[in-house]
Amino acid sequence: MRASRLMLVTLRDTPTDAEIISHQLLVRGGFIRRVSAGIHVYLPLMWRVLQRITSIIRDELNTTGALEILLPQLQPADLWQRSQRWQPYTAGEGIMFHLQDRQGREFGLGPTHEEVVTSLAGELLFSYRQLPVILYQIQTKFRDEIRPRFGLMRGREFIMKDAYSFHTTEDDLCQTYKAMRHTYRQIFERCGLRSVAVDADSGAIGGAASQEFMVTADSGEDLLLISSDGCYAANQEKAVSIPDESPLLLKPSIIIDTSDCRSIEDICKAHGLKAGQFIKVILLLVHFGNGSQQPVLVSLRGDHELNEVKLTNALQQTCGDNVLEVVHLTREKLLARGLKSLSIYFLAPNLPDSLLDNISGWTQKFLRFADKAASSLTRFVCSAGTSEFHRVGVTWAELGSTPEVFDLRIAREGERCCHNPDQRLKACRGIEVGHIFQLGQRYSSILETTFTTKSGYQEPYWMGCYGIGVSRLAQSAVEQHHDESGIIWPLAIAPFEVLIVVASMQDKLQRDLAEHLYSQLRSANIDVLLDDRPERAGVKLKDADLIGIPWRLVVGRDAARGYVELAMRASHDSHVISEREVVSELCNALRDEIRTSLGPL
Ligand code: ATP
Ligand code: MG
Repeated sequence: MRASRLMLVTLRDTPTDAEIISHQLLVRGGFIRRVSAGIHVYLPLMWRVLQRITSIIRDELNTTGALEILLPQLQPADLWQRSQRWQPYTAGEGIMFHLQDRQGREFGLGPTHEEVVTSLAGELLFSYRQLPVILYQIQTKFRDEIRPRFGLMRGREFIMKDAYSFHTTEDDLCQTYKAMRHTYRQIFERCGLRSVAVDADSGAIGGAASQEFMVTADSGEDLLLISSDGCYAANQEKAVSIPDESPLLLKPSIIIDTSDCRSIEDICKAHGLKAGQFIKVILLLVHFGNGSQQPVLVSLRGDHELNEVKLTNALQQTCGDNVLEVVHLTREKLLARGLKSLSIYFLAPNLPDSLLDNISGWTQKFLRFADKAASSLTRFVCSAGTSEFHRVGVTWAELGSTPEVFDLRIAREGERCCHNPDQRLKACRGIEVGHIFQLGQRYSSILETTFTTKSGYQEPYWMGCYGIGVSRLAQSAVEQHHDESGIIWPLAIAPFEVLIVVASMQDKLQRDLAEHLYSQLRSANIDVLLDDRPERAGVKLKDADLIGIPWRLVVGRDAARGYVELAMRASHDSHVISEREVVSELCNALRDEIRTSLGPL
């Protein structure tokens, strides 16, 4: 490929809408162009990177015996209604783009494909003899993200590899899940990424076990908690830990005047207490799929924060209905409901249900939850029911309150680990590039898709699903591999392996030598880009650093003596070498590295 024919436009200045370095470099390097929020064009250089990544993914998945297919992106609403996901995916903050056809029938643009693939399996896989089966596709997904940002990191249209497996037993599913974990490690390693597998929440997709594959990077949206011995790693959404305690010994309980205090910190200062000795109470309202609205009181230790993912899971588990939304109740919202007597500050865990009398649309009884760490406090400090007074040294029994206990708090860096209390959690940031789930029988049961067992019974399949954000992965590689001058592509996913820069296109000798090396490298099956643009050498070398092709050959003044300069993008190591040796030297260097064949492009 010749740079003069590549539609290559690079930018000197940082685009104003690009906040993170990988986004800036991809735009500046002429890899992507924005069309609309979260919608991008993949330009020729980017498309080559994406093709290399997908060919690594295909190679690894085909080795596991998975079958590649292509599922439709337009999906009929009734399939999603049958799985009970139409409403959560289209109403409120739902992320599915949806539309009507000319007959007024509703469709969604696939954000994910469990429904379509499960119903397909139901039609084609009818006997235990046909199982297990793993299907995968590499395709554009659509999600109307609330905050599309960071270029390809959170797009509204992006490329995903999604795979789905079908099994006769849970054991068989677990085996494939483990094998897939290994395959994923291989994929990310071959792509040149440093990644870590963490325990994750199964989210809206539902199911038993799930792990995310995170590329570690400071700009990552996810916070990861990893034990110092590396045996435990989890997304903060899911992480568990043992908090330190400072027990309150005072008994019997007393009441203190806190009318001067605005916060738990104020009370601690004024009365020599610690936030970890408090129970604080948060009031929320849950909107369920069936239209009901349930007020919830959550008791947490004063020094802990609510983990809303864990709360949603606890609600789902307790109420067995789709949780559409959980909202924090503000003073304005309470006043609008006529709840004048209730302050949202300093709520007591034993707030009486009678407060809810006559509030239309709400269930007239609080659902009361307590976080494990809060419920395990023997004696604690809590509001005495008004903001003026607090009880100190009170017990749950004295309050007459028995909330349901769940793990509901955000685990934090520095806390002790559950697998080994001598280990402490460390935090780092990560970009989620892959996610594997054991779905169990959730989709096959609800969509009534079954196979015939050996003994002749009908049973729903055991299912797994496995995603990789292909376009996000490509940008994550830039986030991990760059310097102040530009991108440093890992060889296996680089758009080209070698770049030949002709210092002066006016110099016939340089031109001819560059052409000669270009054709020799191509014959040696090396992916090479020839920078034959009529630009100054300085501009081309700056672009070379920006675009990040791993090896660079500069054909300049020394061409007259038959010498060229060979440099590595990553280390900037360079040496002058005879044009007769350079091709074999490059072939040797590349032979030792992990390459991905793109075939003749
Ligand atoms: P996130 O938590 O980042 O919103 P998710 O958990 O909803 O992602 P999955 O349903 O697990 O995403 O999708 C599989 C993979 O697709 C993710 O691991 C991620 O790499 C990628 N992905 C998801 N949403 C986007 C997006 N909006 N833009 C680009 N890639 C995405
Ligand atoms: Mg995910």
